[in-house]
Amino acid sequence: MLNRDTTAQMLSRKVGKCDLCGQALPARHTYAKFASTIADKERIPQVEEFFLKLEKHDWKALHTYNEFDGSKNAVVAYVIACPQGGGMVVGIRSPAEFYESDEVHAQEMVPPAEITTISKLLSSGEWRPL
Ligand SMILES: [Zn+2]
Repeated sequence: MLNRDTTAQMLSRKVGKCDLCGQALPARHTYAKFASTIADKERIPQVEEFFLKLEKHDWKALHTYNEFDGSKNAVVAYVIACPQGGGMVVGIRSPAEFYESDEVHAQEMVPPAEITTISKLLSSGEWRPL
């Protein structure tokens, strides 16, 4: 088994437990980075669109967002797959400033059929142990 990376540790800590099975994370769940966008002041409409697509479960549209710049604030969508089927998509605000911490801004429960849709948009190598 791979060592847990810092993103996995952050997600387990911030999300806490799985909405589907109720178990405290990680509990054999896996995760993948699904989408990201830069979240500075000039990009508020794009960030609102990003969260709207997440809330509407528009996974194909959400997956087209892949901007990232380490010197700027970002919002990142991660998919968490539950071993019982289904999972969650969480939208995390990820500040560029190291003294600010990542925060969960959206959390959606995802049924098994949608996890299948999401998986088709990702490659198997993108999934990591939570
Ligand atoms: Zn679960």
